Formats: sequence, structure tokens, C-alpha cells
Amino acid sequence: MTILPVIPTSPDTPDAVTTRRRPTMPPRHLADLDLEARKAAVTELGLPAFRAKQLSTHYFGRLVRDPEAMTDLPAAARSTLAGDLFPTLLTAQRELTCDDGATRKTLWRLHDNAMVESVLMGYPDRITACVSSQAGCGMACPFCATGQAGLTRNLSVAEIVDQVVYLAGVAASGAVTGSPPRLSRVVFMGMGEPLANYPRVIQAVRRLTAPAPEGLGLSQRHITVSTVGLVPAMRRLIAEELSVTLALSLHAPDDDLRDELVPVNQRWKVAEVLDAAFDYAAQTGRRISIEYALIRDVNDQPWRADLLGRLLHGKLAHVNLIPLNPTPGSKWDASPKPVEREFVRRLREAGVATTVRDTRGREIDGACGQLAASELTAVDAGGSTTRAEVAR
Ligand code: SF4
Repeated sequence: MTILPVIPTSPDTPDAVTTRRRPTMPPRHLADLDLEARKAAVTELGLPAFRAKQLSTHYFGRLVRDPEAMTDLPAAARSTLAGDLFPTLLTAQRELTCDDGATRKTLWRLHDNAMVESVLMGYPDRITACVSSQAGCGMACPFCATGQAGLTRNLSVAEIVDQVVYLAGVAASGAVTGSPPRLSRVVFMGMGEPLANYPRVIQAVRRLTAPAPEGLGLSQRHITVSTVGLVPAMRRLIAEELSVTLALSLHAPDDDLRDELVPVNQRWKVAEVLDAAFDYAAQTGRRISIEYALIRDVNDQPWRADLLGRLLHGKLAHVNLIPLNPTPGSKWDASPKPVEREFVRRLREAGVATTVRDTRGREIDGACGQLAASELTAVDAGGSTTRAEVAR
């Protein structure tokens, strides 16, 4: 693991880390607005409407996030815009790399000192950004570092989009060696349950996929939105007529175990959740991704593989098995490799496409929420029961 220099932060950083402010939504940012609203905003600031397109080209087309670097704008306009349309949303608290520089994880401090994470993963043919949609998460999955800390707040549209624009800039700088320089995929698999922040996540998807200069111009097919199974929101997503990939974090094929591993299952059961996912696949023609964290002696039994195989047989679905990345001191552990191989074999025998996810970023607390959790645990050392529980 390489620890990169910490990116300079504002002068109040030490206090900011230790002093909790009440969670509040951030000020408005250009990325919160569509192009028409940007025109209205610059006009309100006394600038000509064409500046909206110029700003959008800088931000989405050239990945320039600081208005002071937009040197074709008059100096006075730059300072007006910095205050009104480009407030600092994300301040890098730590930035780490591993996997020979192919994985970079950034821990962000938000304006109210909430913490979130983003990860950039380079491959020979693509670069993928994994972004957070909430600070913390209210879904309380017991094996997940984020879930143990609870929900702080939803992220704004711009807080989500700005993670991607920043990471696209890192990719464009060539910092991820052995990968193409253009960020091409985004997965909503960082901190939070994306569909619990539904309107903002959908707006962020539209911003990321709108052609430049309205947005970043990514393909909808290269965006993955995950969910633990909030059925009404899944049905709402069907009606959006987007062609993003839906990833369903199932983790157990039976209600008895899923009620425990994914507590929201007590509200929407496996059959109902899978029905909604299959309807999404039917509507979009997009194969759904069934996420399944393999946990030793918990959900990795051969009979559960067979049951999952029966549930998914003949469906437009793919299983993505995730070797668990346990939090330090956790009672949960990854399944042994022979058990994992048998699980894969049984699913494939049932005719279900199955892959095992590569475990990027393990050395840098790569699973969702682990870096933020370890940072908060360090900050609270000796103080907070809540944060101490994160490491359990
Ligand atoms: S696994 Fe996902 S949904 Fe569950 S608590 Fe963690 S972040 Fe939330």
C-alpha cells in the first residue's frame, strides 16, 4: 500500500475533524442544476446566460472544478461564481492507493464534517468509479462497516456528481497506470443505499449521462445502481425508463437468514424483491446483477447455492459473489476458497452465470465504509461507543 500525501485542506481542518456539526445539506452547486436552471442562476448573478454553457463545458467537459482555473472568464465573474455556483463540497481527508496504483480510494470530508468515500479502479480496458450516495447508511446490515455507524444524511446531487468529476479528472491525468485515461463506468456501491436517496441519485444519473456540456456524457449502460431491495423504489426505477444496470444485494436466498443479514428484508421478502428485479430486467432488457457476499458458515452452504440457483434459473440475472472483506475484530469472515468454488460450481450447474468479484483495495479498507469507519474510530479513540462498534 502507498499512502499518498494528504491533499491540502482548509486551515480549520484539525478542529473540523474533531468538532461535529449538525448534518446539513450543502449549498447549491452548478452540478445540482440542469442546463436551463444554470442559465437562470447565472442570469440572477448578473452574468449573461451564455456563461452557463461556458461553465458547464469547463466542469463537465474539461473536468475543471475550480472557477479560478477558468481563465477565459472575467476575474470578477470568477469570484462571484466561486461563491454562488462552485462552493467546496468535497475536501480530501486522505487519499490512498494500492494494487500497484490501479486502485485509489479517497476519503472525503463534507461541508458539515460528514465523511464519505470514493474509489477509482483501473483495469486494462476501463476505469470504474465507485461513489457514495449517502453519508453513512440506515439499512443496518450487520456485516457492513457503514451500516454499523447509521445514517448521517443523504448526499446532494452535486456531492455525488462531484465525486465522479474529480475521479474522471484523476483518470484523465494518467494517474491510473495501465488503464485508458477516460473514466467510463460508475457504480453506486460506496457508502449508503442509493434508492433511499432516490430523487438525488436519479438526478445524478441523469447529470452523469447527459451529453456534454449538460453532463458528463457517460453511457447509461455503464452505470450500475445497487439496492438492498427497496421494492417501491425499484418499481419507480422501472418507470424511469433508464437503461442502467440494477445490482440487487441479496446475500441470502431464504427469508430466515436474509431477515438477519439485510434487515430491510423484514419489510420486503426475497420473493417480492426478486419479482421487482426480474420486472426491471424485463423492462430494460438489462441483466440484473445479484450481489452475494460470501460469509463463512453463514450463507455459504451448498443448499443455499442450490436454492439460489433455483430462484434464478432461466432469469436474466448474473450472480456476483463477493468474498467478504471483514472489518477488524469482526465475527464475520470470508468463506474458504474451496467452499467458494463449490458455491460457484453449483450455481453454474443450475445454469446461472456466476463470477467472483476481485477484491480491490483490501489493504486500504476497500469495502464500503471501512475507510470512513477506521478514520472515525481513530478520531474517536477512547471516546465513542458508536464508532468503536464499527470495528466489531
Ligand atoms: S451493505 Fe450497503 S445497504 Fe447494507 S448497511 Fe452497508 S451500505 Fe447500507
